[in-house]
Amino acid sequence: MNPIQMVDTKTQYHKIKNEVDAAVIAVMESSRFIGGDVVSTFANNLGKYHGSKHTIPCANGTDALQIAMMALGLKAGDEVITPSFTYIATVEVAALLGIKPIFIEVNKKTFCIETADIEKAITTKTKAIIPVHLYGHSADMEDIMNIAKKHNLYVIEDNAQGIGNDYTFSDGTSKKTGSIGHIGCTSFYPSKNLGGFGDGGAIFTDDDALAVQLKMIASHGQSKQYYHDVIGCNSRLDAMQAAILDIKLKYLDEYIAARRKSADYYDAAFASNEKITTPFRVGNNNHVFHQYTLTLNGVDRDALKLHLETQGIPSMIYYPVPAHKQKMFEAFGGGDYDLPISDWLTERVISLPMHTELEKEQQDFIVKNILDFVNR
Ligand SMILES: *Cc1c(COP(=O)(O)O)cnc(C)c1O
Repeated sequence: MNPIQMVDTKTQYHKIKNEVDAAVIAVMESSRFIGGDVVSTFANNLGKYHGSKHTIPCANGTDALQIAMMALGLKAGDEVITPSFTYIATVEVAALLGIKPIFIEVNKKTFCIETADIEKAITTKTKAIIPVHLYGHSADMEDIMNIAKKHNLYVIEDNAQGIGNDYTFSDGTSKKTGSIGHIGCTSFYPSKNLGGFGDGGAIFTDDDALAVQLKMIASHGQSKQYYHDVIGCNSRLDAMQAAILDIKLKYLDEYIAARRKSADYYDAAFASNEKITTPFRVGNNNHVFHQYTLTLNGVDRDALKLHLETQGIPSMIYYPVPAHKQKMFEAFGGGDYDLPISDWLTERVISLPMHTELEKEQQDFIVKNILDFVNR
């Protein structure tokens, strides 16, 4: 059996090595490292796949979120509503701009923003809702868009973990997550479902005017070369990453299918165990399994993690501390929140190895070790 890893980007690379190597060499030979056709071709292809009118590549997913907030004109003193149980980037950039993140709960089953709690958190200062498609499960975009419309708020989707997912509306139509809100943001961090060989990110919108703002802000606020209209930043996807990502984009649906297959296998293996709750999903459409995350009931999680480690099985806790309890948010009233579900989850979740190259033999070994520990 091959050594088990949380993410196996190396084997994945070796399967497409010829294509990737040739594309990287072509960029080196062209010496066009920043911008150029390679980047615009990738942006076009990604936009087509995604069903978004405008795709603006940028340096990483964190920048994507920051640029989104800047393009919407959010400023110091404004408030955004966001789940506390998320990766820190989502809320950090708000705080960086002086915007106050208002933390609310996630749904215990979906790990995504609790839509029933959104309206209670709206004040006269609220400008946007920022749902996160955590672990690759889609947030309830239909409810979120309805609430946003009713209260005249923007929706920025943090789709860093959800790229390629389809969200199905109650009328049966579906759209990619990240293409439903006013702006969608994603990351090409190497371990993400569409991962580069370095940093990268993208911003999506259907709104022409917003697209102009997003592009301008990502490029020093410039409307044409050396004419700077607004305060912006410097956030670019480089040509080498774009060349690699354009190849991997062709395989994204295959990659997602491989993740779902591994998730099915885990699901079946853990199905009848009372101490293990497997990830919630409806059909096969609303989850792309960036992570496969169990919720443990009455299991010593740290001891389990240690036990797995001794067997050569990695596992991760995403995330051990909810945002409202992070030191950085003390000044934003983080300590004043009471979010028992977020706290509850941080103590009980554990993410298992999940990637496109998982072998049945490896999964059997992981499952056996978990069940042995949990049932003893
Ligand atoms: C990875 C991630 C980000 C940030 O992306 P980077 O490219 O690392 O800056 C933001 N939000 C979520 C939910 C993420 O998982």
